[in-house]
Amino acid sequence: MNIKAHDDLLQAEMMVSFRKQKMVVSVYVIDGLLIDTGPPIMRDKLIPCFEEWAVKDVILTHHHEDHTGAAHWIQAHQNIPIYIHESGIENCEKRMKLPFYRKVFWGERQSFQPLALGDQFTTANYTWDIIHTPGHAHDHVALFNREKGWMFGSDLYVHPTPKSFFAFESVPVIIDSLKKLLTYDFDTYVCSHAGVIHKGRQVIEKKLDYLEGVQREVLALATRGKSPHAIRKTLFPKSHPLHYLSLFENSPKHIVNSILR
Ligand SMILES: [Zn+2]
Repeated sequence: MNIKAHDDLLQAEMMVSFRKQKMVVSVYVIDGLLIDTGPPIMRDKLIPCFEEWAVKDVILTHHHEDHTGAAHWIQAHQNIPIYIHESGIENCEKRMKLPFYRKVFWGERQSFQPLALGDQFTTANYTWDIIHTPGHAHDHVALFNREKGWMFGSDLYVHPTPKSFFAFESVPVIIDSLKKLLTYDFDTYVCSHAGVIHKGRQVIEKKLDYLEGVQREVLALATRGKSPHAIRKTLFPKSHPLHYLSLFENSPKHIVNSILR
């Protein structure tokens, strides 16, 4: 666990690994607001942080297990409200049925009862716009801090030029969400996996450009009569161990299929 400070923002950065797969994930606390609660496998390491930080509210950016792992513990041990987009509440109340590789990698998340987020949120010193930004997850939100002009975009960024998608992700929906983010006046972008990015607007523009380019190429090949399988082979010929490990829940075919859907 690596604790980093960026002005009044604290970042707890964790490295999770299984065999050769590695992933960095962070939770953030600012002005008494905890943003996400880390993966279940890191819960015991995060508990001392939760006890030290004077957290007053928790906002979950979406229901995925690497963002909601300690929510059950927080609800059981600290008297703090936990919020999520209304469309994610049901996912949190139920036991999460995870594919084996995600269970092994992130750990198994216990259920909890969150409250519904509105369009705006206030902490002692800040006003936050809650921006519904689906595409990575149906309940995904970004948080815009008006006073700092910082965008907390959770998993909308992660990587500028992804070559593979999860089955639950959609290129056209992510494109719409990235465009929505760019209507806000931010420069610093805070990512749950890539950390604090001071040229944040640029990286979001770059990702949007890339995905629009991919979308154009996929549609052009489909117009010429190529099958989804042939399009994937043409545009994304490389395979990655994660494709097999995930039994193709993660695969370039989801990039192509989400565009042609
Ligand atoms: Zn996620």
